[in-house]
Formats: sequence, structure tokens, C-alpha cells
Amino acid sequence: MASLEETSQHCNDIVESYLRLSPNESEFIKCTQDAINETKRCILDEIFCKWCPFSGEISLSYNGGKDCQVLLIVYLSCLWEYYKKGSQASFPLAELPAAFISLEECFPKLQDFIEFTAMKYHLNLYKSPLHPDKKIKMADAFDIYLNEFPRIKGILIGIRRTDPFGEKLVPIEKTDSGWPEFMRLQPILHWSLASVWSFLIYSNEPICELYSMGFTSLGKVTETDPNPYLMIENDKDHNRSNRFNWEEEHAFQNQKELNKENIESDYELVNVTETSIHTAGNQIHRDTKYYPGWYLTDDKLERCGRIKPA
Ligand code: FAD
Ligand code: MG
Ligand code: MG
Repeated sequence: MASLEETSQHCNDIVESYLRLSPNESEFIKCTQDAINETKRCILDEIFCKWCPFSGEISLSYNGGKDCQVLLIVYLSCLWEYYKKGSQASFPLAELPAAFISLEECFPKLQDFIEFTAMKYHLNLYKSPLHPDKKIKMADAFDIYLNEFPRIKGILIGIRRTDPFGEKLVPIEKTDSGWPEFMRLQPILHWSLASVWSFLIYSNEPICELYSMGFTSLGKVTETDPNPYLMIENDKDHNRSNRFNWEEEHAFQNQKELNKENIESDYELVNVTETSIHTAGNQIHRDTKYYPGWYLTDDKLERCGRIKPA
């Protein structure tokens, strides 16, 4: 399996390749390139100037969703750039600090995907202990996490402005009262749903299979359905279509991955979690009742599969 160094370089290749695409190729390329550039600026010029990414001060809040996966890929790409510009003789990090707070029942397919990607992206993934007998808040879970890892000063969050309570957030800010004190690092606030899909599908990275089954936002198992706006039966006016055909057809291919050794080790990993992993640029449409999640590009409808909207 590739090291964190190689994975960061791979993510850098994906990001730089996306930035070189001609904006005329597909409708979302230009706005996604702008979004990537703004995120890169925030990470490289603001976050890395305040906290050194190689000293264990920055962690990632990771729940396997599309948003924190986009953030993770762009972050690793920036890590590579930061390393190349610096003076270190060798890549100084083996794993990226990350935390998954599992307060509620998680979809098994999502759980598998989190495990798989924690390995793939070399996350040193803390998983909050479950307390089935008492209701514990996310803020308290992070308090426990930070007591265990007191070096951490800032936590990356894949929140976007269109998320509930996301409207007034800024990229770098302290936590609110009622939360343990640390810096919230939110460099993808400005990303639209369409940009998230354009980039992820182009990246050719594996994404959680639930998205190919019509889910657009993943919450508690008992409170999340596929998005009703993606039910094929409901789409009499043919409003839904795949607007990312170009990204699928031209998805990023890393020549280095084509050597035999890597294919074999990747194959073993895929076998472990066969049911929940596939490659974003090469989707298998298994569910015939719903269009895949990326057929929906309207940010306002993203959470319509939540039975109790947050
Ligand atoms: P999602 O799209 O599901 O999540 C947005 C992002 O939140 C994800 O990309 C991921 O980075 C992170 N995240 C969500 N769920 C988990 C999880 N189970 N484990 C790990 N990461 C997860 N709210 C406040 O009102 N004040 C605060 O000061 C504050 N600080 C926060 C600090 C951190 C590190 C995090 C993760 C959240 C914080 N929140 C705070 C809550 C935040 O604003 C969102 O409400 C919360 O992330 C849930 O997002 P969502 O389900 O609406 O959207
Ligand atoms: Mg989200
Ligand atoms: Mg959530």
C-alpha cells in the first residue's frame, strides 16, 4: 500500500490535474477550480502559517461523507506542496490525526467505508467510544478526544455554507461556548454541491456506495433515506440527469497506479470491503429505483432524504 507521502503526492496530482482542465469542457469546471484555489489559499497561506501540519497540531473530523473526503484530498495535496517547498529531507509524517465521533448508529456501508479510507489515506483515526446507556453530545466527545491528544490546536471540518447553521461561519474561528476550546478550520465553506461532485467524480477515488443508491446526505440510519427527489418514478418531467458525464469519462488516471504490484495490493483491500467500495469515476448503478446522489445538484435539496432535517 502507498505511504502517506505517496498518497499526498497522488492527491496533489489529482488536484493539479483538475486545475489544468479547460473550463469549457463541462459546466462545473470553472467554479470548482475557483473553489479549489480558494481552499488551497486558505490551507497554505492561513492555516499552515499558524499551525505546522507536521507537528500534530492539526486534526481532521472525518465521517466518511463526500464533503470531508473532498477536504481530505485537497488537504493532502496541500501537505505535499508544503513539504516540497520546505527543507525537510524526508516526508515527516506517517499518519494524519483524525477523529470520527460515532454517537449514533452508522450505516454499515458507511462504517466499512470509513475503515477502508482510514487505511487508504493513512488516517490515525480516533473513534469515540460508544456509550449506549447515556446520550453524549458531539462537543463532549471532542472534549474527551482533546484531553487524550492535547497537542491538537485546530480541527478541519468539511462543513459548507449551505449546511444548517453554516451561513455565518468563517474559515478559521474558535469554537462556540459549550464546546472545548480549539480552532475550527473550515476551508470548504464556499463549495457548492455541484463542485463537490464534479471534483470527486473526476478524482476517481472510491466514494461511499450509499451515494450511488440515491443518498445525498448521510445522517443516522433511522433518520436517513435516499433523496425523494431522486426517485425515478417521481421524475416524470425528467428533471434529473447526470451532469458529470464528462468528469466520469475523463476521470483522473494515475499511470503510476497501473504497475502490477499496486494493482494487486489495492485488489486485496477492495476485497475486504467489496460491498461498500467502488471508484467514483466508474460508477455501478445498483439501485434501479433511485438515481445516484450526484444527479442532484441543487444545494437546497441536498438534505431532503433526512427524515428529521437537522
Ligand atoms: P455533515 O455534512 O454531515 O458534516 C459536516 C462536517 O462535520 C463533516 O464533513 C465532518 O468534517 C464533520 N463531521 C460531521 N459528523 C461527524 C462525525 N460524526 N465525526 C467526525 N466528524 C464529523 N457547532 C457549533 O454550533 N459550535 C461549534 O463550536 C462547533 N464546533 C465544531 C467542531 C468540530 C470539530 C465539528 C466536527 C463540529 C462542530 N460543530 C460546532 C458542529 C458543526 O457545525 C456541524 O453541525 C456538525 O459538523 C454536523 O454537521 P452536519 O451533520 O450538519 O453536516
Ligand atoms: Mg455535508
Ligand atoms: Mg452529519
